[in-house]
Amino acid sequence: MTRPDDRPAQTAAPEETDVLIIGGGPAGSLLACLLARRGIRTVLVEKQTNLERSFRGETLAAPSVTSLHKLGFGPALRAHGFLETTTVTTVTEGRPVLHVDYRRFRDQPLPIDIPQPALIRIFNDAAEGLPGYVYLSGWSFSSLMEEDGAVRGAELVRGRGSTAERTRVRARLVVGADGRFSKVRKASGLPADIEPMARDFLSFKLPRPPEWGQDAQLIVDHDRHLVVLPTFPDSLRIGHNLPKRGLATLRRAGFAAFRDGIAALSPALAPLVREHLLSWDDTSFLEIFTAEMEQWARDGLLLIGDASHTATPILGQGVNLAMQDAITLVPVLVAALDAGAGRQPVGAGELADFVAGRRAHKMHVTRFQRMQESQLAVSSPRGVRVRRLRYRLLNAFPGKYRIFDKVINAQHPVDPVDLSLAQAALSPGSRADGASTQAEVAP
Ligand SMILES: Cc1cc2nc3c(=O)[nH]c(=O)nc-3n(C[C@H](O)[C@H](O)[C@H](O)COP(=O)(O)OP(=O)(O)OC[C@H]3O[C@@H](n4cnc5c(N)ncnc54)[C@H](O)[C@@H]3O)c2cc1C
Repeated sequence: MTRPDDRPAQTAAPEETDVLIIGGGPAGSLLACLLARRGIRTVLVEKQTNLERSFRGETLAAPSVTSLHKLGFGPALRAHGFLETTTVTTVTEGRPVLHVDYRRFRDQPLPIDIPQPALIRIFNDAAEGLPGYVYLSGWSFSSLMEEDGAVRGAELVRGRGSTAERTRVRARLVVGADGRFSKVRKASGLPADIEPMARDFLSFKLPRPPEWGQDAQLIVDHDRHLVVLPTFPDSLRIGHNLPKRGLATLRRAGFAAFRDGIAALSPALAPLVREHLLSWDDTSFLEIFTAEMEQWARDGLLLIGDASHTATPILGQGVNLAMQDAITLVPVLVAALDAGAGRQPVGAGELADFVAGRRAHKMHVTRFQRMQESQLAVSSPRGVRVRRLRYRLLNAFPGKYRIFDKVINAQHPVDPVDLSLAQAALSPGSRADGASTQAEVAP
């Protein structure tokens, strides 16, 4: 359990701001913090009154870890604690076939696992108190305010029924960072291609046995698999694929049958599964779909993170993509706000290059996700043999690390202004925690 978001809830929404961000997940919270550091008036709206988010993306890939250090969040990450993942092993039909050691990538930190609430709290805490930053907790997006075809702000609501409060905030840009079921996306009218994937996911946690170490595993048997992720501080986060809309069938067969099926997939985990996986309440369902959009922006409106590009959990890239959107957007948005006259909305054209660049990166990730998903869905005896051979050939291939480097370690730039603001934001106390701090914010 995470502690509630006990910051004093801002009750009064301002009538007007520069940027109004809907959704305080990794994308929205990081963007709000970085914009506030730049002196941009920023309102962050989050419908939840706490940061509790179970079974969300917690895996930060090496480039995200590098960027967070560059942006000055290293001391806060260390103060909270995180777990480094050292290796990832693929096991098919009981035999290890592909092994990647993250320590072999040159000049890359290890990927880390940190609970999403902790990560978001780090961003929110860093933004708290910055001039022009307002955090509206417990308020939900209700509708867009539009004038002459451009978005000019949003209406927000708090509470339900006859006691609900409503307020309107004008902004030069509304950013929809409200996740995979984005209401802002729906209200925008921008076309989205929502594709259900062939399978869904059920997740659960188990205590991590000491001998497990920091190895992530993909355990595959025909068309069933487990993704096992070492999780901070001392557990394993496990995802299991289900046939589409297969949850009802699974439940009808009974919990014991489900648990036995998981135990059979991983004999190493079987004793833990029997001891700790006790009822459906210990599991969490995730419907898997992808959302692709050609346009992420209208005049006065932009979608980022899962709102604009919902990815599948395969390869654990959702949080990374969301944070990269925020980091890349900041200099673009600051330039657009500076260039625009008075209170004019930020035009879609000014965001076009940002959208094109981020879309291309997302498509690259999606291609690999789809390839991996099709491998995992194989069930025929021949298909299973071919898959095993493919993984083994890849494992033996001398260029294996170069291939993985391209997929999971794609770098993204951090603007020099954000680097120097990060340096300034580090308090003398946190700088004293090591000479590395200077290097952390160096370009
Ligand atoms: C079960 C599960 C497992 C996952 N595993 C991984 C993984 O291992 N690695 C990985 O990288 N990714 C993973 N993901 C994906 C990852 O969690 C998301 O890609 C990531 O959180 C996206 O960040 P975001 O900020 O765009 O959206 P979100 O994290 O979804 O944040 C959206 C925020 O908007 C708020 N909100 C929603 N509607 C409104 C509204 N109307 N008004 C105001 N606020 C609103 C929500 O409360 C939320 O705080 C997983 C996702 C799930 C669900």
